[in-house]
Amino acid sequence: MNFDLTEEQRMWQKVVHNFVAAEVKPKAQEVDETSTFNWQATRKMGPLGLLGLSIPEKYGGAAMDAISAAIAIEELGWGCGSTGLALAAHNGLGTAPLIEFGSETLKERWLPLLASGRGKLGALALTESGAGSDLQGGVRTKAEKVGNEWVLNGSKMWCTNASIAEYIITLARTNPAGSSRSLSMILVPTNTPGLTIHPAEKKMGLKGSPTHALSYEEVRVPLENLIGEPHRGLHQTLSTLDGGRISIGALAVGLAQAAYEAALDYARQRQTFGKALAEHQAIQFMLADAATEIESARLLVYRAAWLKQQGRPYSKEAAMAKLFASETGERVARNAIQIHGGMGYSSQMPVERIYRDARLMTIGEGTSEINRLVIARQVLLNR
Ligand SMILES: Cc1cc2nc3c(=O)[nH]c(=O)nc-3n(C[C@H](O)[C@H](O)[C@H](O)COP(=O)(O)OP(=O)(O)OC[C@H]3O[C@@H](n4cnc5c(N)ncnc54)[C@H](O)[C@@H]3O)c2cc1C
Repeated sequence: MNFDLTEEQRMWQKVVHNFVAAEVKPKAQEVDETSTFNWQATRKMGPLGLLGLSIPEKYGGAAMDAISAAIAIEELGWGCGSTGLALAAHNGLGTAPLIEFGSETLKERWLPLLASGRGKLGALALTESGAGSDLQGGVRTKAEKVGNEWVLNGSKMWCTNASIAEYIITLARTNPAGSSRSLSMILVPTNTPGLTIHPAEKKMGLKGSPTHALSYEEVRVPLENLIGEPHRGLHQTLSTLDGGRISIGALAVGLAQAAYEAALDYARQRQTFGKALAEHQAIQFMLADAATEIESARLLVYRAAWLKQQGRPYSKEAAMAKLFASETGERVARNAIQIHGGMGYSSQMPVERIYRDARLMTIGEGTSEINRLVIARQVLLNR
């Protein structure tokens, strides 16, 4: 067993870290305060490969291995939760189903544009007011075949990137039977008449990552915009979410790392009772727990990514990584605030923002409860 990153992975980590330190982290507070997406940095991400992490080279992507892709999202999360989430959603949700299941025509049409940074991003709309954890039973948005088009009607909620996307891959009911073979993924360009992207949600954190409700009224797209097989959308979604969970786990590790570093700095310079906070054992224990949990979370994320890269089953491991990393992110950010005392509650301090940003990670792309169900199911099957 070898726990070292390869030389290439280490170089990639350094390149992304330096980019994020220069272009993303310094803007994180402004992005949060003004609820604006950091387009300026995102435009520069195309040439670096960050907009096409898993896109094959023939479509202009970086074709990174799964560990390198996780490293990139981790570094982005370290710099700014909002930018990290937008990029995790773009790579993990917006482009992944197209790469995995899309037709050659769709790939050629969209992937080079998205990978280059000349276009906007990708988005995936699964969730509805009555369908979050329970997509199979809950999705009401329907798509009907009329002539040579799909006609979509319905609504979606909580779609990350919708207003900054070229298209939204939409999970819609194409078979009223209601079984696991009744949903399909359909690519809907955001300029299609009948699609309304509602104003951005007002959220607790991740304010620079726009999230929107959507309405579809007689939205017409060509039949060829179907992604993968008809009625296999649920299966394709679950497979996409396995990969997405590695991404959210990596993002949570990055957020935790940033909170931990801020707490470490503060503990070194702040004095109480005649010595630095870092010399009080209660503070040392919080720092020791944070260091241990971040390291554990990172290893779980990298292991899930490694399995994915080997082409081996990784559903349970991705759920474990996402569950543990997201709960670690929240706990580490919480304790980082504690170490800052009153200053930790001030929006002048990054830990306040990181705590709000980290909170989402236990909810999006499968809540902690749903991930525990995924893990339990596999454990009970002895997998
Ligand atoms: C900032 C943000 C960004 C998002 N981005 C996207 C996106 O890009 N695309 C998209 O499609 N969705 C997105 N979502 C939606 C997100 O994936 C859902 O909110 C999430 O899957 C949970 O679904 P829900 O909100 O309907 O909660 P519900 O399914 O109603 O769950 C409510 C609570 O009940 C628990 N619960 C539900 N079922 C069970 C069960 N069987 N056993 C035990 N507990 C259970 C859940 O864990 C949770 O605690 C986003 C959400 C947010 C907040």
